[in-house]
Amino acid sequence: MNTPGPDPSSSTPTRHDLHGRYRTAETVEDFRHNLAAVQSRIAAACERAGRDVASVRLLPVSKTIDEAHIRRAYAAGCRFLGENKVQEAHHKWEAMQDLADLRWSVIGHLQTNKAKLVARFASEFQALDSLRLAETLDRRLQQEGRSLDVFIQVNSSDEDSKYGLPPGQVDGFLQAMPQFGALRVRGLMTLAMFSAEAAQVRACFIRLRELRDRLRQTAPAGVELDGLSMGMSGDFEIAIEEGATVVRVGQAIFGARAVPDSHYWPGQDAHG
Ligand SMILES: *Cc1c(COP(=O)(O)O)cnc(C)c1O
Repeated sequence: MNTPGPDPSSSTPTRHDLHGRYRTAETVEDFRHNLAAVQSRIAAACERAGRDVASVRLLPVSKTIDEAHIRRAYAAGCRFLGENKVQEAHHKWEAMQDLADLRWSVIGHLQTNKAKLVARFASEFQALDSLRLAETLDRRLQQEGRSLDVFIQVNSSDEDSKYGLPPGQVDGFLQAMPQFGALRVRGLMTLAMFSAEAAQVRACFIRLRELRDRLRQTAPAGVELDGLSMGMSGDFEIAIEEGATVVRVGQAIFGARAVPDSHYWPGQDAHG
């Protein structure tokens, strides 16, 4: 069990090629099947990396998916869903109030003027990337009498089009966090470079993990950096091999999206 397998760095490919081919999940049975398939890919990646499968949380990403399908995913066992756009997430939260144990994670860039929506309903926010946003979120949360788990988004690929703090600014950012009592820092989040070249994708994940390891030594008390949210349908196995504790997986569970990713990420063209 503990014997390391072949060096994963040379063998695990990205799977962006699969994107167009994930079939849309229609029935509760489809969802059960897809969730089990993703879980077994997670387990295999953990095995290769000598990691405990319980150290990786699967966050299903339901952006663009309608209420009827989300209810079937819920019936198949999903209790925590990721959404990229806050208004879309808020609408779904409102529509599914009857599913009292369904929680929401906002994983996409947030404009400060929409912080109050997140403060109202979200259980987790993974794209914290400015002090102004932290301050506004904290104030709104205090007003709601709520607190929020947050991940700080880091631009690990050096692409101008990506949101997130440059790695060199994260240390200073963390030092400011203790003043925001309603924000519980849980770790770092990133989107890897969009590339079929596994080595480039892996380099982004390694960068995030090494940054986290360095920052742990200087992080103020109360700021927890155990979490590494990285990896999606096309690259979550590589992310797990490099230490991901949360993988955000949409298409491999719900089916290929018709909406191009440029709708969600600035400067990102549709890819094959
Ligand atoms: C959409 C999205 C994902 C999931 O991408 P899939 O290709 O559907 O797995 C992960 N993270 C973020 C920030 C997203 O917006």
